[in-house]
This record gives sequence, structure tokens and C-alpha cells, in this order.
Amino acid sequence: MKEFRLYLSHLTFRRAVNLALCGIGYFFSRLFCKPFVFSMPYSVSLEPTTRCNLLCPECPTGNGTLNRPLGDMSISLFKSIINQVSPYTTTVLLHFQGEPLLNGSIVDMVRYATSKRIITEIATNATLITYPLASNLVKAGIKKIVVSIDSPTEQEFGYYRKGAKLSDVLQGVKNIIEARDLSGQRYPIVVLEMLAFKRSINDIDKFIELGRQLSVDKVRVKSVQVSSGKEGFKMIPFNSVYSRYRMDDKSAFSLKSIKNKPCSNPWFKLSVYHHGNVVPCCFDKSGEHVLGHANDLKNVWKSDKYNFFRSKLLLNRNGIPLCSQCPQGRIKLDFELK
Ligand code: SF4
Repeated sequence: MKEFRLYLSHLTFRRAVNLALCGIGYFFSRLFCKPFVFSMPYSVSLEPTTRCNLLCPECPTGNGTLNRPLGDMSISLFKSIINQVSPYTTTVLLHFQGEPLLNGSIVDMVRYATSKRIITEIATNATLITYPLASNLVKAGIKKIVVSIDSPTEQEFGYYRKGAKLSDVLQGVKNIIEARDLSGQRYPIVVLEMLAFKRSINDIDKFIELGRQLSVDKVRVKSVQVSSGKEGFKMIPFNSVYSRYRMDDKSAFSLKSIKNKPCSNPWFKLSVYHHGNVVPCCFDKSGEHVLGHANDLKNVWKSDKYNFFRSKLLLNRNGIPLCSQCPQGRIKLDFELK
């Protein structure tokens, strides 16, 4: 309810019309199997930085396989994007690759988006949330923070979140909740998320209890994405509803569903790398489909190149390697437990 009210309160008339046009465009595109775009994106995902302070083994940043330069988004590029989308866009997700709180301008970014009545969300490992930073983020108007952990117990934590300690993460969560409550604000909504690994899958009750002790607004379990077969076998809880993969045989696994139905993301959302390149969604971590630059978002969003990508998606999603391996719209990824 709190979240619903938040979105409703930021949906101006123009944004509501824009959202409706996103849906109408997608509906006609499905109907006629060719792209119709009458709107601007409802939601934008921006990459504050590609840098990270941890070494998570299945993350391209953490394991060093990201084939893009490390760097931070400048505040001037951020403001330029916000100025272009603010009449239409309701939500800005301040995360992609990297740990967003490493960007020294993150508080200014949140403040600027808030000044344009845009909802800001951050997904973070929370190891860097000191009390002063928490307080500044709350004052700047952050509306939602998602903190992701790999286990609710100190013994198991760090198996995936390499380089972090659970106690630091929990202190970060406490700081943000305390800063919010002392300021008398209703927001940010704080979500504690656990990645569903084979080793932590039996600790879900402990995870729920941890969320209750911290008084977070929501707890949820998320299925893990893995790339490498051998490591994947060690990590995926195949027999669980929280796995997006099924085991094919002793040496292979695949997504539980590869239905060839299109995905609606390119009609509703776009994603921007830290240096301004636009890609269709946050699954495109390595720039397989760069569709333009954020200096000119309106033209990029409606460009032939973007529409060509949408066409391919409509006609044969599984013909696009990135999309064929993507669970979006096929498999439930998040499970809210409170
Ligand atoms: S199918 Fe997946 S990878 Fe392709 S556009 Fe949709 S969300 Fe992105």
C-alpha cells in the first residue's frame, strides 16, 4: 500500500497519459507485429558507476569480465537525462552494474531527481551506508532502497558477497532506517533481499526473522543468475521454486522457460550506461545492443535502430541471443515474503 501510494503520488497527468501510451503502443505492436511507440519511457535505469567494492563471482564487475571501461556517471550527464525525461518518467533506478554509493555525486543525483518529483530507487550492497550518508540520502528524498545479501548468517555470508561482512551490511540497514525514522519521513521503503543459493536456501526462515528484527518494509527472495556451468551447479538450488534454472543432465542446466513471447521492456523502460550509451534493458551488461546516446533520448527512443530491435523482439525473441537467455516475462524472479 505504501508503495502504491508512492507511485500514485508521483503520477502527474502527463506521466499517467505517457504510461497509458506505453501500454497502447505495446498492444498495437503485438497486434500488428511491428513496433508502435507513442510515448517516452515510464522508467529509466541509470548506472551511477561500474565500480564496486566487492568481488561477487558471478557479477561481471566483481569477477573482472565486464568488457566496458570502469567509471562514474557525471552529475551533468545525470541532470541532462533527468531534464529530458522528467515530464514523462515516474521512476529512476539508480543502479545497473557497480555499487551506486561509490559515486561521489549520488546524494546530489537523488536530490536533483526529487526536485523534479521523480521517484528514486537504489539497489546496494549496503556496506558503505554510514549514518551521515544515510541521513543525507533521506534528506535528498530517496524513496526506495533494496539491500541484497547472500545469507542471513555470518558464517555463510561472504560465500558470494566476497569482501563484505554481514555485520557491516546490517549496520548499513539500521542506519538508513534510523535516519528515516528520526527525520519523520515515510520513505525510503527498505527492502531486504536474499539471493537464493543452494547453500542458503534452508535459511529462509532465519532470513525472514532477520528482516523482522531490522523492521524493514519488505523481505524477498530472488533467484540467482549464473553464467558458468561448473560454478552454477554449485550455486543453483535446482529443486526449489526459487531457481530460475532446471537441470537438463549432470553437466547442463537451462532456463525453466524459453517461451518465444516478446518482452514489453523496450516499450516502457530504457537503461543508460555511466558514459551515456543507451541499451534496451539492464540484462545487456556488455553493450550487445547499444541503441544511441543519452544526449538525445527522445530521438534515440523512437529511432529506427531502437525500432529495429523492437521488431526483432516481436518477431522472434529467441533469435536475439541476449533475449533468448533472459528470464524477463517468462519466469518469476522475485518472491515477496513479507
Ligand atoms: S527479453 Fe530480456 S534482454 Fe531482451 S529486451 Fe527484454 S528484458 Fe531485455
